[in-house]
Amino acid sequence: MDVYCKRCGEPWELDGVEHGDMTDEERSRFWKGEGCPSCYGEPVEKRPFRAEATAVLHDLLGDDLDGLAAELEDAEFLLGEEFWG
Ligand SMILES: [Zn+2]
Repeated sequence: MDVYCKRCGEPWELDGVEHGDMTDEERSRFWKGEGCPSCYGEPVEKRPFRAEATAVLHDLLGDDLDGLAAELEDAEFLLGEEFWG
């Protein structure tokens, strides 16, 4: 299941975020919403909906990252194109 960068909306496999695709520092930045390895330090013109959704749901769910990924999957299913807009 994917989670999304809270800044640019780039999809990341949750397992990869937690286990090996990011350094500890990158993962810490990612969850704080400071950006992922793709966008950190780069300008982001428009924060996509899925980035905001990830930030809001992460605030609500806290450490339940599997729950976060599941909620995001539901939101993508329900919203379709809008989710990616
Ligand atoms: Zn990013």
